Amino acid sequence: MPAVGYRKQPKGQRCSVAGCVRPLHGSLYCHAHYRRSLRGRSLDAPIVEKRATVAQRFWPKVSIGQPDECWPWLASVNAEGYGTFAAGHRRIKKAHRVAYELTNGPVPDGLNVLHSCDNPPCCNPRHLFPGTQAENVADMWAKGRANPGRRSA
Ligand SMILES: [Zn+2]
Ligand SMILES: [Zn+2]
Repeated sequence: MPAVGYRKQPKGQRCSVAGCVRPLHGSLYCHAHYRRSLRGRSLDAPIVEKRATVAQRFWPKVSIGQPDECWPWLASVNAEGYGTFAAGHRRIKKAHRVAYELTNGPVPDGLNVLHSCDNPPCCNPRHLFPGTQAENVADMWAKGRANPGRRSA
């Protein structure tokens, strides 16, 4: 038997769209053009390879101030006042958590990202720290925020 390299498709087969040099995905098109043809979209528009990174999409939505100031989130917020950020396909994340992760890496398992400044829309990584929900509630009680009706003046 002749030695055959591991190739699923013959070498050099390319997408049939004029000018496209991407490798063949189905019988006619590269993966990107294949998906476009499925959706009935034009095959002529150039394919944009690069997607903006999360950081490139995220930070323009934050009002970045002095290092010690609160940096409020400028886009949408949820009912609790936390900023919300579309981190991916149908994935909504809390903006301050994304700010923490972009700066410090992933949040440890089971922990929330809490605000030392007690300001939900704030995305200044210096005001964010990982902690448990119990710590968050204790913190709220300490600040008299959890149940304002019972606060004695
Ligand atoms: Zn193509
Ligand atoms: Zn803050």
